[in-house]
Amino acid sequence: MSDHPHPLVTPIYETSTFVFGSAADVVAYNEGRSTQYLYSRYGNPTVVAVEQALAALDGAGAALLFGSGMAATSTALMALTTAGDEVICSAGIYGGTLHLLEDLLSRFGITTRFVSIDELHHLDAVIGARTRLVWFESPINPTLRCVDIAAIAAVCRARGVLSVIDNTFASPINQQPFRLGVDLVMQSATKYLNGHSDVTAGCITGPHALVGRIASVRRLLGTILDPMPAAALGRGLKTLAVRVARQNGTAQAVAEFLASHPQVSRVYYPGLPSHPDHELARRQMTGFGGMVCFDLGGDYDRAASCFDRLKVIARAASLGGVESLVSLPVLTSQLGYSDQQLRAAGVTRGMLRLSVGLEDARDVIADLDQALSES
Ligand SMILES: *Cc1c(COP(=O)(O)O)cnc(C)c1O
Repeated sequence: MSDHPHPLVTPIYETSTFVFGSAADVVAYNEGRSTQYLYSRYGNPTVVAVEQALAALDGAGAALLFGSGMAATSTALMALTTAGDEVICSAGIYGGTLHLLEDLLSRFGITTRFVSIDELHHLDAVIGARTRLVWFESPINPTLRCVDIAAIAAVCRARGVLSVIDNTFASPINQQPFRLGVDLVMQSATKYLNGHSDVTAGCITGPHALVGRIASVRRLLGTILDPMPAAALGRGLKTLAVRVARQNGTAQAVAEFLASHPQVSRVYYPGLPSHPDHELARRQMTGFGGMVCFDLGGDYDRAASCFDRLKVIARAASLGGVESLVSLPVLTSQLGYSDQQLRAAGVTRGMLRLSVGLEDARDVIADLDQALSES
């Protein structure tokens, strides 16, 4: 037996702690003169191997993994803001992020100003003396509206404000935000990165200095991912590029089918020339993604009966996995919104949101066709 088995795949280091040979080794670790690990809340070789793959995928200096996208978001926001600071956040944002800022971080003296897409495109007028950070998404759920990432990043840089994008919907295969000048990227690795709907995880990528500040806070909050789900995520990442390429193709075909269907009043997909941000998406994305939304005349009853009749596409929240999923935004991301709030978000009661999986495109389209035939 060889002492060095040279495994192709990084083993799962399912251990909470690591053994030192001597007091001198511990001293060397404490002084930063050692590559040894100490405790898995600080770091673990399986987790680090996946972090290195994620940094390479994003073209970033460093990456950190967390137990969920929300763990990544909350740890980053706590690391980068202080009482008295203001965060500017896109109003079109993941619901968890909105509530974290509005209901929780507000209790620690961090105030948030939620802004429209229009205001994001005129940030210079919105940024104030206390603004520390701008947090935004593109494409935005569920309308898939896009914002000009390079323009937002440039204003932030000029004003000395950090720009952070939630790149979950696009994935690094379809959108490379560091090439457009942003400071940090957050992703829910639960979605496309893992891609198999069997892990919750989150990721932050960025330059070493900024990521290092977040790493210190991750130690205190204990929000690091465990080695087992990290290994599952590492395996999922190996097929990210082929999965996303296939999902891009199927989503385009699904969007074109829906756009030609007489029962469908509107389709939201950045790959369709009818989408308001098609030109911007063409400039800043290399693929239009696997998310497609469509509207059945703003009518909840028609949307709900189409939803109920789907057979191949599963009725479930979340996105980015190998199985196609469908949700009704008014029952999930826009739950409890008033008519006025729905209008501001560009959402109607007749909307369905699809996350296109890896099934044969003909099966997905046939399923939609039969579900729509009676609506
Ligand atoms: C799911 C999601 C999150 C939160 O990630 P979790 O892994 O569920 O904590 C954040 N942003 C977007 C866009 C998401 O879709």
